[in-house]
Amino acid sequence: MANMAKAEIGVIGGSGFYSFLDDVTEVQVDTPYGAPSDSLFLGEVAGRRVAFLPRHGRGHHLPPHRINYRANLWALRSVGARQILGPCAVGGLRPEYGPGTLLVPDQLVDRTRTRVGTYFDGLPLPDGTVPNVVHVSLADPYCPAGRAAALKAARGRDWEPVDGGTLVVVEGPRFSTRAESLWHRTQGWSVVGMTGHPEAALARELELCYSSLTLVTDLDAGAETGEGVSHDEVLRVFAANVDRLRGVLFDTVAALPATEERDCPCASALGGMDPGFPLP
Ligand SMILES: [Zn+2]
Repeated sequence: MANMAKAEIGVIGGSGFYSFLDDVTEVQVDTPYGAPSDSLFLGEVAGRRVAFLPRHGRGHHLPPHRINYRANLWALRSVGARQILGPCAVGGLRPEYGPGTLLVPDQLVDRTRTRVGTYFDGLPLPDGTVPNVVHVSLADPYCPAGRAAALKAARGRDWEPVDGGTLVVVEGPRFSTRAESLWHRTQGWSVVGMTGHPEAALARELELCYSSLTLVTDLDAGAETGEGVSHDEVLRVFAANVDRLRGVLFDTVAALPATEERDCPCASALGGMDPGFPLP
């Protein structure tokens, strides 16, 4: 593959993160699981080669439960990405996490229902290879190096982040009821989103570093007293913060270790276990 079609870092997020970059190369990638959400858009940030993937596709036509998460992570790894950043919009579950809060989670709770969350399902791939049944640890779902880079980047731009917290991922596309939201809050969870799972789990299975930067766009139904979450409000707050978040993301990219210098557990998540197929 030509160098222009390679990347070392992947960013799964909206088109606002790459649309203004110079010299962006659009690359279509196919995978054994079908097509990813969109083309990959490869460009350079702070001297690092980055592949951007619009999680919901250009034009935002894919709802969270129909995103082909397996294809997305596979495609990013196949162009060389080994460290993934997954920024996403979330609802705050505590009054103090109001709109504009940047929270870098350290834990994850999966409350999705219909998504395929593994590559290791024992079902044959199109080329006939059959994945083994492998169990990886997801005790700490996020890369410590990626989290540290994100926290440092945010502070460097005077955006004091919340360091740690639990992202609960719901199926969507609807928002939570008040009872669900109150339950999430009383569990001690911090923010609620719709895409953080299975992204983190699939990244771990492919020995990719993955970290998330969550931007609170609204207080979830159980943490506010008004009408509940509206899609328009989510979009408005996200748009108001996308420039800031892009700056933090780019500084995070710059602060990530070189691929060959990764010394976090993510890089050896399989611990030598044979997945039954070559990693892309
Ligand atoms: Zn890592």
